[in-house]
Amino acid sequence: MKLYIATNNANKVGELENMLKKNLPDIQVRGAKKFGGMPDVEESAVTFEGNALLKAHALHRIIDKDYWTLSDDSGLVVDALNGNPGIYSARFAGSNATDDENRLKLLKAMQGIPYAMRQARFICVLALLGPNNQEHVFSGTCEGSIALEERGSDGFGYDPVFIPEGHKNTFGILSADLKNRISHRANAFKQLVAFLSQQK
Ligand code: IMP
Repeated sequence: MKLYIATNNANKVGELENMLKKNLPDIQVRGAKKFGGMPDVEESAVTFEGNALLKAHALHRIIDKDYWTLSDDSGLVVDALNGNPGIYSARFAGSNATDDENRLKLLKAMQGIPYAMRQARFICVLALLGPNNQEHVFSGTCEGSIALEERGSDGFGYDPVFIPEGHKNTFGILSADLKNRISHRANAFKQLVAFLSQQK
């Protein structure tokens, strides 16, 4: 099976290839480069699933029809902010916002909200398109809450302000190994692997 990842990021392709090959030794994982790079996609959908499918279809349109395409979309959903930043997680503090700016905006927006009301979850949606354009969607979540202030500097994005359920520290402090076992991405990924393992 040949699987093309809807990204120009070689690191992301390498990482996914490593993870998939552990379970599916015969799979070939490639980035969008072979087909001239990932086309520009306006993430105009209002759900993670919609945006993941937009990216997957954008690449699938330009690749050989026998191949599979995979894309992802992810973000942080905060109950006290009516689900925000949600699909706007990467651009919460503006279109070119840094992770630091996004976290600062989040903590400011949550000033005064007590710990018991700071529930949140990371969501990751993987969209897989098969050779005949069949759509398969796998959604993973990681429940937790937003810390009162930043703690730790490991990981990326909102990791230093997110405390996963059952733990006392943020993903900015907890080990990468633990995050890779319990994260929204890991949960979506397990479903993807189970599905691909059943394909020829
Ligand atoms: P995208 O899926 O690349 O569009 O990223 C969405 C945004 O969600 C990222 O820029 C991060 O701000 C946030 N995000 C997604 N997954 C994680 C995570 O595992 N840790 C921290 N932030 C995340």
